[in-house]
Amino acid sequence: MNIVAVANQKGGVGKTTCCINLAAELGRSGHSVLLADLDPQGNSTSGLGVDRSALSRSVYDLLLGEASLEEVLIRTPWEGVSLLPATLDLAGAEVELAGAMSRETRLRRGLAGVTAQQDVVLIDCPPSLGLLTLNAFVAASRLLVPIQCEYFALEGVGQLMRTLELVQNYLNADLELAGVVLTMQDQRTRLSREVGDEVRRQFGSVVFETAIPRNVRLSEAPSYGKPIAYYDGTCSGAAAFVELAREVSDRWLRR
Ligand code: ADP
Ligand code: MG
Repeated sequence: MNIVAVANQKGGVGKTTCCINLAAELGRSGHSVLLADLDPQGNSTSGLGVDRSALSRSVYDLLLGEASLEEVLIRTPWEGVSLLPATLDLAGAEVELAGAMSRETRLRRGLAGVTAQQDVVLIDCPPSLGLLTLNAFVAASRLLVPIQCEYFALEGVGQLMRTLELVQNYLNADLELAGVVLTMQDQRTRLSREVGDEVRRQFGSVVFETAIPRNVRLSEAPSYGKPIAYYDGTCSGAAAFVELAREVSDRWLRR
C-alpha cells in the first residue's frame, strides 16, 4: 500500500511543491499517481492547472461521504497524474466533522479500493495537525516530511513526531516515517548546510539523498498551473525532482 501523507504543520516548507512535482515526475516515469489535495488553500489543485471555481465536487464531498472516489477524481493534463481536488468548502470540514462518527477515518474510507488503480497516492496536508491531517495519517502507510533548510527548521518536528506516535498507538499502526526531504536548500550558505547536517544526524537514512535546491523557477511554475518538468525541464529544481522521484520509486515502488 503506497499511500503517502506529505506533512509538516509548519506552513511554507515545500509540502505542496513536493506533492505537485513528485506526482508529475512519478507519472512521467510510468507510475499512476493520485494527488489528494487536503489543504483548503488548494495550492496543489491550482498548481496542477485545475480551475477550482469550476469544480462541482471536491475531496470535501468525499470526506463527508456525499460523493464516491470516482465522482471526485479528475484527470490532469500531466502524464499519469490524477487529482482529488480541494475547494474552499474544505475549510469548513474540520468543524463539520468534529462531532461526526468516525471522523478520523473518513479519508481512509474514501480511498478504499484506490490501490487497485493507482501505484501511489500522495496526500498534500494543510499546515496544522488538525482533523484533516489526522485523516491523512489514518489513511496513509507512509509519512513524508519536507523540512526547509532555515533557522528553526526542526522547531515543531518534535510535536509532529509525537503526533505520529499517538497515531501509531491508537489509530493506525501501519503508519511509518518513511522519508524526510530537505527543501529550499542553498548550498552556498553555511546555515543551509548546517541544517542539512543536523537533520541527517537526527533522522539518519530516512532522509533522502536528494535535497531540493532553492530555485525561483519552482516558485513560478504554480502560477502557470504546471509542474516544473513541463514549465522548465532544464532548471536545477526540475533536475532535483527527477532525482527525488527516482529515489522514491526505488525505495517505495519497486515491483
Ligand atoms: P507548503 O505547502 O509547505 O506551505 P509550498 O510548497 O507552498 O509550501 O512552498 C511555499 C512557497 O515557497 C511557495 O511560494 C513555493 O512556490 C515556494 N517554494 C517552495 N519550494 C521552493 C524552492 N525549492 N525554491 C524556491 N521556492 C520554493
Ligand atoms: Mg501547501
